[in-house]
Amino acid sequence: MNRKYRKTVIAGNWKMNKTPSETKEFMTNFKAMMHTGRWCDIALCVPAVCIPAAVRAMRETRVGIGAENCNANASGAYTGEIATNMLVDAGCKYVIIGHSERRAMGETDADVNAKVLAALEAGLTPIMCCGESLEQREADITNEWIAMQIKLGLKGVPEDKIRKVVIAYEPIWAIGTGRTATPEQAQEVCEGIRAVVRKLYSSKNARAISILYGGSMNEKNAYELLAKPDIDGGLIGGASLVPEKFVQIIEAANQPTV
Ligand code: PEP
Repeated sequence: MNRKYRKTVIAGNWKMNKTPSETKEFMTNFKAMMHTGRWCDIALCVPAVCIPAAVRAMRETRVGIGAENCNANASGAYTGEIATNMLVDAGCKYVIIGHSERRAMGETDADVNAKVLAALEAGLTPIMCCGESLEQREADITNEWIAMQIKLGLKGVPEDKIRKVVIAYEPIWAIGTGRTATPEQAQEVCEGIRAVVRKLYSSKNARAISILYGGSMNEKNAYELLAKPDIDGGLIGGASLVPEKFVQIIEAANQPTV
């Protein structure tokens, strides 16, 4: 982390977990455990049906609620889909885009790019995910693969909006597996992502953009991962479902930094 130049962001991704009633219960417990004072930015991205309960519960807090996906179109015949202006109206501040679980369902880099542009247009903070498979890591093409995902995902994002984008590096082999990237592996890729942003935009923008690590981050390994200079926070799946664990990760994000 480097709080002098950029925001630290701790974001939860609930995936397809918790009902609206369970959301209410989680938020009550979570609020009771949260400390007051200076905190990093906190986001909880929840299933669409849980958004109203989450927004209601977190209204007076610093926790921003987010969605786990959006549709890039403004409106129309897209049964089952949710547009970015609907998310904004429901009280969302964030939206996860291009999670590997959605890419596995067929989402392409072009889809990711269209959603990032739509989210920015609506005033949402897109958390744009990228990550390599185990095969790609073993074939030693991680850096090239990630650079390509970043370039395609950010295509057409104007200079004055790039700082609003949060990038999450999530190696696919580390998601939900209990197998975390080492802090050194995660740092190396996050540093590489920053270098891509520098090339596409400028040093100033690269220095200001928040890059998160995701993949089995938990209350035990968060401190070490977040101590790395180019890891500005975490996108957390499993551990964000348990208030005690999520709060401990937030506390790890409050460690002293350069
Ligand atoms: C995720 O879903 O983005 C994720 C990182 O999951 P987990 O923390 O459970 O690996």
